[in-house]
Amino acid sequence: MAFTPLEKVEEHYDVIVIGSGLGGLTCANRLAKAGHSVLLLEHHTQLGGLATWFKRGGHTFDVSLHGFPFGMVKTCKKYWSKEIRDSIVQLKNIVFDNPQFSLTTTFSKDDFTRILYKKFKLDRITVDDFFNTVRAMNFYDDQGMTTRELFEQFFPGRSDVHRLLMEPITYANGSTLDEPAITYGIVFSNFMNRGVFTFEGGTDRLIGLMADDLQKSGVTICTGARVDRIVVENGKTRGVMVGQKMIAAPAVVSNSGITNTIDNLAGREAFSDDFLSRFDKVVVNNSSCQVYFGIRKGDSFEDVGDLLFTSTAREFSSEEMRLMDTKSRTFSVYYPKTRPDKPDYTVVASMNGNYADWATLTDREYSLAKEAMVERCFVDLERYIPGIRDKVDTIESATPKTFNRYTLHTEGTSFGTKFEGLDISRTLFKEVGGLFHVGSVGIIMSGWLGAINYGVIVANDVDAFVRS
Ligand SMILES: Cc1cc2nc3c(=O)[nH]c(=O)nc-3n(C[C@H](O)[C@H](O)[C@H](O)COP(=O)(O)OP(=O)(O)OC[C@H]3O[C@@H](n4cnc5c(N)ncnc54)[C@H](O)[C@@H]3O)c2cc1C
Repeated sequence: MAFTPLEKVEEHYDVIVIGSGLGGLTCANRLAKAGHSVLLLEHHTQLGGLATWFKRGGHTFDVSLHGFPFGMVKTCKKYWSKEIRDSIVQLKNIVFDNPQFSLTTTFSKDDFTRILYKKFKLDRITVDDFFNTVRAMNFYDDQGMTTRELFEQFFPGRSDVHRLLMEPITYANGSTLDEPAITYGIVFSNFMNRGVFTFEGGTDRLIGLMADDLQKSGVTICTGARVDRIVVENGKTRGVMVGQKMIAAPAVVSNSGITNTIDNLAGREAFSDDFLSRFDKVVVNNSSCQVYFGIRKGDSFEDVGDLLFTSTAREFSSEEMRLMDTKSRTFSVYYPKTRPDKPDYTVVASMNGNYADWATLTDREYSLAKEAMVERCFVDLERYIPGIRDKVDTIESATPKTFNRYTLHTEGTSFGTKFEGLDISRTLFKEVGGLFHVGSVGIIMSGWLGAINYGVIVANDVDAFVRS
């Protein structure tokens, strides 16, 4: 798809959006549809941010298409298109396999209730009470209660139940048992609707459809354009600098991480001491590691499930899940049905990871650590797909350094910031007139659904600001 080269972009727009993650894309599209002139600047050559894919050895690998809640159906219909909505399909076989239990589920509320009741022998009233409590949680609740306390209140001493309820959420957004229960409650309830969904045709098709829609809406898209500076004068946004080129706009929406936006793009001098003292408490989330396996054309394997939460660790621990040699990983298995037009088998192993563990290695140590990670994934995968080694013709791997390189995110964070980042993101424009942030913050605004929904919320704020 041909976008606009940097030298051809205008000198002035109503709004500039920095970054083309799902939050940035959605925000840009909404604003253009509302009649504003919008420039979208993306440093990478590809749109999508972490909603991305790459091609190797004749295979297309999806990076973050492992599963999202049913809410995407409504969101995509309302804010994108029917064609996008109609391509959302359910993943029916979600597998858990660890020393405490092995089971297959649709990951829906009904199925989870059945499992908690029948397999984990919990009484029905407690289970219903738990679901009702979690569903009723909202921002105005007491944020003092942690997820650990929530679980202990309903399922005291049941580390197996805690694992079932928490492990998928830790993969989905990096949260731990010691974070506010509200962040758990919102994300868990989103999934505990009708199960886990995916996008037929893959991430490349989704982002292609979104790019078509953006161009129809009149958004000027410029890739390979890294914003170096958000220009702030007298407490107001004036535009951005891309290299030596100044592009003016009264409103700038940054889809770059909130820490990058404040520390590096606008610069700390643009903010008050009081704001910075709150901002300095923001903690970025962990990053990820992945190993991608492509199966030789003509080879295949039996259906082993769509998404496998596997671990040989004795109990759940979000700290264990971030270790370089973690025993816990998910396998996303992509069958020919994922891309009916280009049928293929691929498997993506995903693990949480700490940037510092990888960034401090020498080149030699880094290569060896990657090789060891690939081997651990192979060994684990063979437990589910015997003989897989002989069928794989392509292997690639990614670490927190990879995520940092492609998205510029602080420490390669996969899921933005912890809870306190949300307030900073929401109050940015009160500090610097015309400066907005969209993208993963506060756990609940991350993930495909969270990022798109946040894109809509921020677009409404920006629309009101530009009109005023
Ligand atoms: C391994 C992994 C697996 C995941 N799995 C899932 C999943 O199964 N389901 C799910 O719902 N979510 C998943 N996620 C999370 C989900 O992908 C993200 O939460 C979501 O895509 C983030 O969108 P965003 O709007 O915050 O922007 P991001 O995707 O973070 O994009 C930000 C964009 O800004 C650009 N940018 C940054 N700085 C600049 C600059 N200075 N100039 C120009 N451009 C800039 C970056 O290049 C990037 O394109 C996963 C994430 C990872 C890493």
